[in-house]
Amino acid sequence: MTDTRASRFQRGDGRRIAVSFEFFPPKDEAMERVLWESIERLAPLAPSFVSVTYGAGGSTRERTHATVKRILSETALTPAAHLTCVAATRGEIDDIVRGYHAAGVRHIVALRGDPMAGAGEKYAAHPGGYETSAKLVEGIKRIAPDFDVSVSAYPEKHPESPTVEADIDMLKAKVDAGASRAITQFFFENDLYFRYLDRVRARGIDIPIVPGILPVQNFKAATNFAKRAGASVPAWIAERFHGLDDDPATRKLIAAAVAAEQVIDLVDRGVTNFHFYTMNRADLVYAICHLLGLRPATQEAA
Ligand code: FAD
Repeated sequence: MTDTRASRFQRGDGRRIAVSFEFFPPKDEAMERVLWESIERLAPLAPSFVSVTYGAGGSTRERTHATVKRILSETALTPAAHLTCVAATRGEIDDIVRGYHAAGVRHIVALRGDPMAGAGEKYAAHPGGYETSAKLVEGIKRIAPDFDVSVSAYPEKHPESPTVEADIDMLKAKVDAGASRAITQFFFENDLYFRYLDRVRARGIDIPIVPGILPVQNFKAATNFAKRAGASVPAWIAERFHGLDDDPATRKLIAAAVAAEQVIDLVDRGVTNFHFYTMNRADLVYAICHLLGLRPATQEAA
């Protein structure tokens, strides 16, 4: 009998596991420093790509572009720029897409985005804008077919979707329009992901559905975020963080343990690709990647 702890990551072949990291554009110089320290710390793990979010309503447009362009010019990383349909005409969005292409960006995470009034409010497409995320994917591929387009997926369904089936119909439309990968909303119960995956595959969708992993740096913030995103937070997670509000050191160890437990279970059930919501912090994500067998490129070559 082989010990799964020894064989799990096929030691010596850490590359079997592929990861990507998500960052948000910094608001000020202090946040910019934190972001770049994180990028520099995580870069040697050679992620497949690093993505940069696009603030609600296009509010971070310039900062997203600046961050993506800096990643392109100062690192060897492959950036993926998030882009939404909100508050812009097709022409304006197409110009952004062309600008990215001209700058050398070849990966876009295409989203509908939240309503201008905030998540949970009624969504209305911008006059003259892309009506849906699927139309946006189509528009991007029309401008440059060599764009790699990722889209979102919701194991617990998007809060606006009447049913999981309606959500999967939208995913199918995005794939038919040219999306090559879906990244999931974060989740804490792996069974939710596998149940969703079964339904997606039964619908004939065969692109990778990459689990989005949120290491819980701040339990309260994660709970609020989860509420807006329609993700459930199981009572056992709340229990693990209970009583640690004033104990950041223990909280961090628990966060690492919770995320480690989740990714190891996913690996044991066949998952090899992970997308990490880094919240611009490197330490937890770095530790989890280390656990997954990833090592800095220089260390591997030695
Ligand atoms: P879609 O997949 O287009 O739609 C989700 C579901 O909502 C559909 O299945 C459909 O059933 C339903 N739906 C869509 N439109 C309507 C409608 N008009 N009426 C009724 N039902 C409808 N947001 C940002 O602002 N910036 C980002 O950078 C960003 N990055 C993200 C990255 C990932 C991996 C994920 C999972 C989400 C991200 N989001 C981001 C959040 C996302 O924009 C919101 O969840 C938004 O509400 C939906 O956009 P979508 O492309 O995920 O939705």
